[in-house]
Amino acid sequence: QPIGAFFDAVVARQPAHEALVSIHQGRRYSYLELQREANRLASALLGLGLAAGERVGIWSHNNAEWVLLQLATAKVGLILVNINPAYRTAEVEYALNKVNCKALVTMASFKTSDYLGMLRELAPEWAHAQPGQLESVKLPNLRSVVWIDEPGRGADQPGMMRFSDLLVSGNPDDARLAGIAATLKATDPINIQFTSGTTGFPKGATLTHRNILNNGFFIGEAMKLTPADRLCIPVPLYHCFGMVLGNLACLTHGSTIVYPNDGFDPLTVLQAVQAERCTGLHGVPTMFIAELDHPRFAEFDLSSLRTGIMAGSPCPTEVMKRVVSDMHLSQITIAYGMTETSPVSCQSSVDTPLEKRVSTVGLVQPHLEVKVIDPESGAIALPGVSGELCTRGYSVMHGYWDDPARTEEAIDADGWMHTGDLATMDDQGYVNIVGRIKDMVIRGGENIYPREIEEFLYRHPKVQDVQVVGLPDKRYGEELCAWIVTKPGQTLTEDEIRTFCKGQIAHYKVPRYIRFVQGFPMTVTGKIQKFKIRDEMKSQLG
Ligand code: ATP
Ligand code: MG
Repeated sequence: QPIGAFFDAVVARQPAHEALVSIHQGRRYSYLELQREANRLASALLGLGLAAGERVGIWSHNNAEWVLLQLATAKVGLILVNINPAYRTAEVEYALNKVNCKALVTMASFKTSDYLGMLRELAPEWAHAQPGQLESVKLPNLRSVVWIDEPGRGADQPGMMRFSDLLVSGNPDDARLAGIAATLKATDPINIQFTSGTTGFPKGATLTHRNILNNGFFIGEAMKLTPADRLCIPVPLYHCFGMVLGNLACLTHGSTIVYPNDGFDPLTVLQAVQAERCTGLHGVPTMFIAELDHPRFAEFDLSSLRTGIMAGSPCPTEVMKRVVSDMHLSQITIAYGMTETSPVSCQSSVDTPLEKRVSTVGLVQPHLEVKVIDPESGAIALPGVSGELCTRGYSVMHGYWDDPARTEEAIDADGWMHTGDLATMDDQGYVNIVGRIKDMVIRGGENIYPREIEEFLYRHPKVQDVQVVGLPDKRYGEELCAWIVTKPGQTLTEDEIRTFCKGQIAHYKVPRYIRFVQGFPMTVTGKIQKFKIRDEMKSQLG
């Protein structure tokens, strides 16, 4: 089923139920209101001259307009392109041109970022253009720019349209919508998502209704979402975590979406959970850590919380245990996946025994296959032995946009997506992510998984966060390096860390280089870019 039809069926069951609360915008929508606004927007998009299969970009932090556009584009078969709000002029130019976006919806500004200013810089030709008739040398395909007009942000720009003006130009009862809906197929591309760029340049994955709708549904099933659930979503919508694990998991189960903020901030998350009596909370590990360690954490009543998902990067068992005991998230689960697989392929359910739930990424999702292979021979690895995780089924992307060579490298002839992640599977099928193949360190012939050292160092009572990487070394091939963030108000020395390691882990696993830092280089999705830590250390060490 296409996303629009599925959503409409949910609305029919519970039109008056609350669908969305956008706290920073002070807005609330029932399911019926969300549907009417999405239909109105879909009709307005047709009014811009856009047709099924064309690309519409969204370059914005989380807000109500985002989910309206997600639904509206799906209803008329337009392909939504998620553009990272941290992108600057050159990157947005690349992304828009890479997929030939014909229209773009953007925030006017955010903190010090002037989105409309960046666009004007790219296309000074727009100074005298009429709305809907933009022309530019650098952005040859872009015809319409729509900016989300919010109080205090942005002012009228030649050629660019206010979101509110676009919206009123549409008709929620536009008869064309039903006609288009009848032509849509579940296998049509609906979304291009760029990967996080954790290991290098982001790649654009083309996804279909079938890919992401099924994934969102089964994620919601694993969390046992019902209309009574209210899910706090501080993770970015521009990434699959917010868009699929957040929006689609909720909308397929009739639950309520709560956006606490635009741009992550731990305090507003805690405030939102308390004020909205949220039952669920999503986050990457660094977000949960920031919430748990917030100086005002103890002031908040989080007793309404039940479930949520930690995902995106290795989820330390210690952090999972704190989330369960201190945040009431007794039914939290870990999910594992990648943008290219819609994204989730493994997830524990709320019924998984706690011990497995905090220490593994769970079992394979229904209707998907997962195998762990020896990357060299392709043979299935024995239980407990690490190898590359491969996955197959409805979730595997259509391909990288306009990049058949890369697609062929990633998806083999039998349809298996090769993830580049190292994993183990136990004899019950529980999967553990050991690390990325690219991050594995080989020191003097010993394979070392940075994850293992990180888990160990987390146990030090003064360590708040830690990242371990390998650095090139003449003698051993590679040497380990740890970057450590100390807990607030504590001091920590290299000697204390070395003493802590002594006798507890093998000598070759004790990091040769130890640095105390304030934070790590990160993507906007909150993922740590280890390649930047390596680059920084290489330039420090010369
Ligand atoms: P890029 O592909 O651009 O370098 P990326 O791989 O980080 O960036 P995403 O698709 O957002 O982009 O992230 C998928 C990756 O995140 C997975 O391949 C895996 O390495 C990591 N990951 C996701 N969930 C987990 C998890 N629960 N535990 C460990 N790692 C995870
Ligand atoms: Mg990747």
